[in-house]
Amino acid sequence: MKKLIEKYFLPSEYVNRFSDITVEMLKNKNKKAVMIDLDNTMVAFDDPNANDEVLDWIKNLEENGIEVLILSNGNRNRVEKFAVPHDLKFIHSARKPLMKNFHLGLRMLNVTKKEVVMVGDQLMTDVLGANRVRVDSILVLPIKDKDGYATFLNRRMERIVMKWMDNKDLINWRGNSDNV
Ligand SMILES: [Mg+2]
Repeated sequence: MKKLIEKYFLPSEYVNRFSDITVEMLKNKNKKAVMIDLDNTMVAFDDPNANDEVLDWIKNLEENGIEVLILSNGNRNRVEKFAVPHDLKFIHSARKPLMKNFHLGLRMLNVTKKEVVMVGDQLMTDVLGANRVRVDSILVLPIKDKDGYATFLNRRMERIVMKWMDNKDLINWRGNSDNV
């Protein structure tokens, strides 16, 4: 059980917010690209637009040679509205944790698995998908707690897994909250 959870649900790292992820941190790990979830990772699930914080963060990464691709399970309409006005690269309707669009993302970014990291707020989609394709992952806290109905079951599963990992000292959110 422990091995299985570690293999599939344990992120490589976790931070509070996407903006805690710095160029330095990524360069230290030899990352050339970031695949990032949209809903509750960059903005709240019900927030249609990118904001300055998101855009500045992406711009800074890209100026430092780290490409960014949005990998979202959101539908075309949702993701296009967010990404197109700012010329952001994206894959919509990604169906994470299925592996297909992680592979497409790697091709679009023209990087190897080792050169990319997946950033997201959900163990059951973002982290599980990344682990299945053996891509490093960074888990962030969801921006808005109250989530869409589709993720309700995922959240319940997530709580069970998180509690299990917390008990085993595999992950420690309370400790993490100190670095805010
Ligand atoms: Mg999300």
